[in-house]
Amino acid sequence: MVNDRKDLTVPAPREATEKGTPTPPVLEAVGLRKTYGDAVAVDDVSFTLAAGECLAVVGESGSGKTTVARMLLGLENRDAGELTVCGRPRPARGRLSSRERRRRAREIQIVFQDPYSSLDRLQSVGDVVETALALHFPMEAAERRRRVVELLDSVGLAERHLPMRPAQLSGGQRQRVALARALAVEPRVLVLDEAVAALDVSIQAQILNLLADIREQRDISYVFISHDLAVVHQISDRALVMCGGRVVEQGPTGRLLTDPGEEYTRQLRAAVPGPGWRPSRRTRPA
Ligand code: ADP
Ligand code: MG
Repeated sequence: MVNDRKDLTVPAPREATEKGTPTPPVLEAVGLRKTYGDAVAVDDVSFTLAAGECLAVVGESGSGKTTVARMLLGLENRDAGELTVCGRPRPARGRLSSRERRRRAREIQIVFQDPYSSLDRLQSVGDVVETALALHFPMEAAERRRRVVELLDSVGLAERHLPMRPAQLSGGQRQRVALARALAVEPRVLVLDEAVAALDVSIQAQILNLLADIREQRDISYVFISHDLAVVHQISDRALVMCGGRVVEQGPTGRLLTDPGEEYTRQLRAAVPGPGWRPSRRTRPA
């Protein structure tokens, strides 16, 4: 059931296939490191992300996934390593002008697990998306409202959701709003940190399908972070397995599932439902 869901080969990046010339990666991380006091949260993490690709980062809770995400976004200063986004090196630290900050935001955006904490409880759906749009793309109010409706439509929401507040929405709908807000900026890279972890399985599947559609339709790449190898296999071409802040293994997601090189990966795979699987209470915090 697990094995036949996806081809085991890594598809070539779309642009490279079409034009016959390889395009530079949209994201390149070399030797990322982050410590908190004596504790090493992330150690020597390197990877590249091609245009149009979905790279998964998978590992148990505490393995350093969110710290990697935060460093990619510049929400956390790294202690060592190099980061290049859309061909431009990002220095480890330094003050940014608001213009530079906006430019970087258009390169990379993030959606977190819990949109409830990242959405303003008092802001309507329409305002959330309109604010993101207004910050980055000056346009007339009427045109902006048209764009907001278009963005909501692209994540499966409708005009009637415009005046609603987060509390009036379901978990899946809130995640769609967070997605629309991120897409408003038209980022080249979208980091999804446990973005479907808090959702029921059927809603999870809807959001994963939506993410796949969006990647088909737009010039966008994903870094898809999850503790769940089954979820990762539904969306990613390639995965990077993290344990204790380090990359222990990486390769085509299908291969990691069917033929893991590490015992740790094998254990992540053990969480994948197989024949005879019966639903049971979740034991792992989402
Ligand atoms: P994951 O997202 O894979 O669950 P995290 O990146 O959140 O892992 O955490 C990796 C490690 O870094 C954990 O041991 C965590 O306790 C630690 N850590 C993360 N953020 C901080 C922080 N702000 N201060 C101290 N330790 C932190
Ligand atoms: Mg995390």
